[in-house]
Amino acid sequence: MKHILMIATGGTIASKSSETGLKPLITSDELLSYVPDARRFCQADTLQLLNIDSTNMQPSHWLKIASAIRERYDAYDGFVICHGTDTMAYTAAALSYLIQNSPKPIVITGAQRPIDLEITDAKTNLTDSLRFASHDHAHGITIVFDGKVIAGTRGKKERTKSYNAFSSINFPYIATIQDQHVIFYLDDKALLAEPVFFYENLNPRVALLKLIPSMEAGVLSYLSGCYDAVIIESFGVGGLPSYESGDFHKAIEQWIDAGKTVVMTTQVTNEGSNMSVYEVGKTIKQELGLLEAYDMTLEATVTKLMWILGQTKDPQEIRRMFYQTINRDILYTAKW
Ligand code: ASP
Repeated sequence: MKHILMIATGGTIASKSSETGLKPLITSDELLSYVPDARRFCQADTLQLLNIDSTNMQPSHWLKIASAIRERYDAYDGFVICHGTDTMAYTAAALSYLIQNSPKPIVITGAQRPIDLEITDAKTNLTDSLRFASHDHAHGITIVFDGKVIAGTRGKKERTKSYNAFSSINFPYIATIQDQHVIFYLDDKALLAEPVFFYENLNPRVALLKLIPSMEAGVLSYLSGCYDAVIIESFGVGGLPSYESGDFHKAIEQWIDAGKTVVMTTQVTNEGSNMSVYEVGKTIKQELGLLEAYDMTLEATVTKLMWILGQTKDPQEIRRMFYQTINRDILYTAKW
């Protein structure tokens, strides 16, 4: 029987009502006691690492989760992390960079409704996660939610209330869990070549700028005082304005000259960016050598930059690492 460690960090799944609103109060042992059926296929231990609303999740917490797994990696066959849904996609992506090539499954789950309610998705999601983490073919970082298994770099919370809150963006589901069975669509554990590797540094100085019509380029210059990298979420396949108050060319040039990183992405969720299509994107990308997120999710782009900048400051190395595919995060290999 598989030996699984269930790590609790808080979120709705572990929340109770209070006068001030829902807040995480249910312990890791209590969480496990709501899914007694899981004893049929795994032996689970628990660890109460945090008990927070995931609104408060930060890079230091991701490092804490990764190091808790590292310390216990040899003692368990798999790991299940209970987490709030709001920033779950960021944590799943961050762990995908911090823990690479893991032959053991590390599953992140949560729920839209607390586990102690009569009508809730929490028991199904937790049981499914323990089941998936106990499967011989499971590996790496995944989100398990509403019967779907999503690569850790491809998850996005797309619904605030429904049980099917998470989608896999620009990538198929790895598996589904139906009638207590795991059905794999991507069964590639045998292809794992490298041993598991844990990283211990992140640089949180990454900013996001979402363009709106009429945005002034001065905001970029302001951000450069506080951040080492900026992700610009532009429109459609990608472009930058050039109207009078929006001279992004000059503002970005200043960023690059200061040795900082600028990454272009799109605010459209599906299908990714391609800046070489329109004049508004192609010219500035070529002239300034901008990085582009292509089919990566925003959550993966943010955490990948934090991971890369935690390892190096060298622009060539940043470029190489950014376009390297990690846990299925980027597949669109344009000529960069
Ligand atoms: N605010 C909660 C959290 O992210 C929402 C949830 O878990 O569904 O912790």
